[in-house]
Amino acid sequence: KAENLQGYAPICLGLEDFYIRRLYLRIQDCFGRPISSPPDAWFDVVERVSYDNNKTLKRTTKTSRCLNLGSYNYLGFAAADEYCTPRVIECLKKYSASTCSTRVEGGTTALHCELEDVVADFVRKPAALVTGMGYVTNSAILPVLIAKGGLIISDSLNHNSIVNGARGSGATIRVFQHNTPSHLEKVLRELIADGQPRTHRPWKKIIVVVEGIYSMEGELCELPEIVSICKRYKAYVYLDEAHSIGAIGRTGRGVCELLGVDTADVDVMMGTFTKSFGSCGGYIAGSKELIQYLKYTCPAHIYATSISPPSAQQILSAIKVILGEDGSNRGAQKLAQIRENSNYFRSELQKMGFEVLGDNDSPVMPIMLYNPAKIPAFSRECLKQKVAVVTVAFPATPLLLARARICISAAHTREDMVKALTVISNVGDLVGIKYFPAESKMP
Ligand code: PMP
Repeated sequence: KAENLQGYAPICLGLEDFYIRRLYLRIQDCFGRPISSPPDAWFDVVERVSYDNNKTLKRTTKTSRCLNLGSYNYLGFAAADEYCTPRVIECLKKYSASTCSTRVEGGTTALHCELEDVVADFVRKPAALVTGMGYVTNSAILPVLIAKGGLIISDSLNHNSIVNGARGSGATIRVFQHNTPSHLEKVLRELIADGQPRTHRPWKKIIVVVEGIYSMEGELCELPEIVSICKRYKAYVYLDEAHSIGAIGRTGRGVCELLGVDTADVDVMMGTFTKSFGSCGGYIAGSKELIQYLKYTCPAHIYATSISPPSAQQILSAIKVILGEDGSNRGAQKLAQIRENSNYFRSELQKMGFEVLGDNDSPVMPIMLYNPAKIPAFSRECLKQKVAVVTVAFPATPLLLARARICISAAHTREDMVKALTVISNVGDLVGIKYFPAESKMP
């Protein structure tokens, strides 16, 4: 896009624009591929849709069964589940698919109230508010929490929903180097004096916004250091746990549990139900006063239709399974499995010579392609061999930091992972993305 190339001579802009357009035409089929089954460990990817003739427009869809390395189905709840699915079906019969109302009109069912209590308990906060969409939870709630005169200090790689929420708030925005507590402290020190009380500073309020697991990097947040810096500078901590809640920690309670951070030190805990819980919607959890305030002020609560009852039921049931309250130990097994799968897959990729970002225990593992021109070859060659990968490029990443972003699930078997590794290794050789010497051969 021209605005990203500011400073170049106009002739150069024209050329860059030309090449970006050509590149886009080459890669567009690698994004937004339709699927026609649940996003489980294996799923049906639509290869082609054809029409019988123009009069009837009868569609014929040709699909291909592929190994799914792209969905955020961390605990495998995206597929039919022996505990969750019958309850969701019963709920659909009882409440129907939609409340057709906002929360303050007729859209609060008994299920919504129960869900908010269970979520608050799960994330170890006094209260929670559930919304119909994770993206909107960030983009609509940040502007309610802070306004002009306030300061947001945001990790440089925070999700677009946070960026939009921050911009919409009207607060001053400063960015700190990705996951670098020392740089956060430097930014804070430049803007306020150490230890000044909240009431004596040029800012009405300071909120530091971070993520539990960074969705494009697979890294765990340096939360213990960040929390202690925020305490010292009296800044509020806002934590987005979209990718970490349910997926990591001994009982699935996310990055605080894994890294031993007291949830009392995180002022606003945000998360989504679209990943580990196999549902949709988002939540904000915090003090009773905060949640009460949001109930009266948050547009996503007042003006948006509430989360659908079957989706709410799916979340409730998934949390019960995770906590073992369904009477089985499947939850604990799923948590152990995703950890084992993630660590196995990451270390095998590294041994093959790929550059893999992220930390141990994180189910998100980006394989660096760098040059966006490698996207189509990587994506199509993997798909040809029945492995569906998600490729990520500009503007979601900087232009020359394109990557394939693998999401591992507890539902993947060892056999699935060995197949995926073999295919990725072959395609990696083909497109030349093994940047390090291989340590060992595939099992
Ligand atoms: N926050 C982060 C960190 C995310 O990665 C995402 C989406 N993947 C969201 C928020 C938005 O959540 P949802 O897709 O549930 O709307």
